[in-house]
This record gives sequence, C-alpha cells and structure tokens, in this order.
Amino acid sequence: MSEATPLLDPDVSTMASWLDGRFEGGDGALASLAREVMLAEVGPNVHLRGLLEFSNRCRCDCFYCGIRRSNRSERDFTLTEDEIASVARHCLASGFGSMTLQSGERRDDAFVSFVERMIRRIKAETVTHDLPNGLGITLCVGEQSRETFARFFEAGAHRYLLRIETSDPDLFARLHPPKQSYDARVRALVDIKEIGYQLGTGVMIGIPGQDAGALARDVKFFRDIDADMIGMGPYIEADGTAAVEMNRRRLLPAGTAHERLRRSLRMIGVTRIALRDVNIAATTALQALSPTGREAGLAFGANVMMPIVTPGGMRRAYQLYDGKPCIDEEAEACTRCTARRVAFIGRPLSRNRWGDAPHAVGRDALRSRQPRSGRPAREVGV
Ligand code: SAH
Repeated sequence: MSEATPLLDPDVSTMASWLDGRFEGGDGALASLAREVMLAEVGPNVHLRGLLEFSNRCRCDCFYCGIRRSNRSERDFTLTEDEIASVARHCLASGFGSMTLQSGERRDDAFVSFVERMIRRIKAETVTHDLPNGLGITLCVGEQSRETFARFFEAGAHRYLLRIETSDPDLFARLHPPKQSYDARVRALVDIKEIGYQLGTGVMIGIPGQDAGALARDVKFFRDIDADMIGMGPYIEADGTAAVEMNRRRLLPAGTAHERLRRSLRMIGVTRIALRDVNIAATTALQALSPTGREAGLAFGANVMMPIVTPGGMRRAYQLYDGKPCIDEEAEACTRCTARRVAFIGRPLSRNRWGDAPHAVGRDALRSRQPRSGRPAREVGV
C-alpha cells in the first residue's frame, strides 16, 4: 500500500461520493481497502469493552432518544455500587480488559461523586497480573463541566465517548432543544481532549436532512478534533415521546433500514481509510437493523465491539431506540455470543488488554513503546 495513493487521503467530495456508493469496484472494494488500512494501522484484533448502562436518568431532552427526560417513567433505575462492581468482575473474568460506563446525563453533585467513586472502586478491585492498572475505563456520561471531566480522569477513567451526533450545526439544532447547544458540545470535546483522555466521538447515520456531504464533513470533523475512537451507527426511531417529537418535527429517518445500514457500513469504511490508526466500534445499533450488522461493521474496518453487560432486568428501561437487540439477555449470554461472532468471521480477540488505539498511544512520548503501525494494539501499562 503506497502512501502516495490518493485513495488513502480522500477529500470531502471524494468521501461523499464513496458514501453514496460510488467507490470504484463497489462496496466490496471499499471494505477491502478499509480492512487493508486496518491491518496495517491497528492490526486484526477485535477489542471488547463490556458496555454497562448503569442509569437511565437523564437531564437532556434529545428529540430522538428513547431515554430523553420527557420519556421518564417509573422505570427509572440506577444500579447500586455493588451491582456495578459485580459487573466489573464479570468483565474482568471474561478477559475484556476494558469496560464502558454509560448512562443518561446528570450533573448534580450526588451523581458526579457516585461516578467518581465507582471509577476508583473498579480500578482498585480489578488489578491483576495482566492488568496492573486495573480494567481500562471508558466513560460515556454526557456533557460535563471541565472540572468534572478532570475529576473523572484523575479517578482513573482514561477514555471518554461523547458523540457530536452530527457536525452540522443546523442539523444539530433541529435534533435538540435550544438549551443543548452545538457549541457547548464541541467545547466539551475539546475539554476532554485537553485533559488527556483518549477522545471518542461519532454520529448517527440516516438522520433526516443528512446527505452524503454532511457525513463526509462528519469524517473531516473527527479528523480535525483529533478523535482517537469512533462510535457511530444508524439512526433508528425510538418509542414514546421521542417518536412523537420526531414525527411532529417531520424528522423521519432518512432512507429505509437497509439504506441506513449500507450507509453506516460505508461510513465505517471511509472513516477507517481517512483516520487510519483510530479505534472504530461496530455498534449495537448496526445489529438492530440486521442480525449480522456488527460482523459487517468489522468487515468494513471496525476493530472494537461492546457487548452489553447491563443486568437483564434493566435492559428494557434503557431502550435508546426501538428494536434494540439483546434486551432479554444476561451478560454471560452476550459475552459468549460476541466471542462466537468474532470467531465466526476469523478475527482474533484481544484478551486482558486495554486495547488503546495506536493513534492515542503514539501521541504520548511516555507511552511510545506502542508501535505506530503494523501490529495489533498492545497494553500500554501506564
Ligand atoms: N448520555 C450519554 C449516553 C447517550 S446514549 C451521552 O450523552 O453520551 C448513547 C448514544 O445513543 C447517543 O450518543 C446517540 O448517538 C445514540 N442514540 C440515541 N438515540 C438514538 C436513536 N434513536 N437511534 C440511534 N442512536 C441513538
């Protein structure tokens, strides 16, 4: 693979044409190139992060989201510290190496202290020979103040996922109430990066009014903000007030489920080619549109999967969108199922490693033992 190929440094209009299905040789050829880049830059390994949705309480009112504030019901839940610690032990025993703590967004002191305590507890209780610094922790608890981001980082979380949802400010404004501003979201992403986290962001694909050009500009946004991890998936209609609100605003999903899935897979491929050495997740929402959606994501260059480890009883209360898969399962079943899926497509699974992206690790001189390319990401042990 030569550095000089224009294919490997696509501009926005080239990326838009690929997202529209005009990659020479078709989507199969796009997936092959993306896999080639993946093998060269991050290696074949698939890294697992146990995804724990620990609370559905949320102060935000994102119109599209099944757990938006206006959808609140008696089904509100927040797991206890002991429940969370027990899930962390499951992740450790399953060899995941990392877990993602996700919830609705809250900024009150009780919540911030709770999350901080949980990070410290998980870190303290998951130290092993293979993981001398405990499980890797990714946070996904929404927009916080810079001070709160710093507290969580200090407590031991080292990655943060916060989707921009769309990098088009007008589209963002149509999907969120006025109190939730595009500028505040970008500010939060910059804070996260500056504090020293590995930064994850991403978008929903197939939101109304979003064409291939907008998605191509999303990829440019990921590059400009210097993201280390990307998580994205199709937009899927949610139940309850989210569906009502989206309908009222005539924000129906753009394209059929099949088209949104296709476009999501192309987005993964294009992002892999454009950003190269980042981690890219094959997300649950892909599987909501096709039983093998996540495997397809891996085939287009994704290298992370996030099996849901939320206790079975809580999953129905964390339905971000309709038809979210695996809501009747327990963590053990999801863990086994994910391992089978990865084995089926012939990719090796990382075990007992944080699985940081070379993009992030190479950035920091202190962590420079990590090779920039050509080999799978390894534990960095800092
Ligand atoms: N409060 C956290 C977690 C939000 S839920 C945060 O703000 O980061 C995680 C992601 O689910 C969101 O970023 C959004 O992209 C996705 N999501 C929400 N509703 C969705 C829908 N209807 N279809 C597809 N994805 C959705």
